[in-house]
Amino acid sequence: MRRRSPRRTRRSNGVAVGRTRRIAISTIPGARARRQPRPRTGDSPAATGDRAGARTAPNEGRMKRHVPMRQTREQRFWARVEKTSSCWFLRSKPNDQGYGIFDNRGQKEKAHRVAWELTNGPIPDGLNVLHNCPGGDNRRCCNPAHLWLGTLKDNSQDMMAKGTNKKQLLAGEDNPKAKLTWVKVREIRERLSTGGVTQLQLAAEYGCKRVAISYIATGRNWKEPNDCRQAA
Ligand SMILES: [Zn+2]
Repeated sequence: MRRRSPRRTRRSNGVAVGRTRRIAISTIPGARARRQPRPRTGDSPAATGDRAGARTAPNEGRMKRHVPMRQTREQRFWARVEKTSSCWFLRSKPNDQGYGIFDNRGQKEKAHRVAWELTNGPIPDGLNVLHNCPGGDNRRCCNPAHLWLGTLKDNSQDMMAKGTNKKQLLAGEDNPKAKLTWVKVREIRERLSTGGVTQLQLAAEYGCKRVAISYIATGRNWKEPNDCRQAA
């Protein structure tokens, strides 16, 4: 490929309309090596001005430059679905409720809803896409065979029947977010009753917040089964 003169001011003189972009690129360090030879006079701006044009052979037919096909939403979705023998998962970070989230060009959609819709058509008003995975419901699953349509009432009845209502707060070690264990909590209680240490010091030592130590002290959290105190 012929390298172009580094003297931009000379080259920018007398160039055709539509070459402004190419001149701007020349200000980027390292961009020069990838540049195409200067087009012949008479080339249309369409054949010279676009970024995509730089990837094809220079000036070989004005409209021949490669324009990548835009994938449809459906193609983009299924391309990101990982299929196991049972549940299918969208490769994405699940949301706070544990549902797979499909980022459709910035528009966030729940993966299982998209999967149902792409397979069966639009989701009727007032109905929800619910899970029925053979190995226990998995909110991330978007295998259409594991999805069914139901009302919110159906959903709550279904969750009650399966015991998967995640809204129940899990106490103590059962809570996956718990930073402490019963051993540590009892240690903290003992040290608090012995005295000589502040809640703040304990919080720093056990890697939790001061308020967590306070709740342990009052019995609001990590309530011992035989603790008859009213939660503060
Ligand atoms: Zn499933």
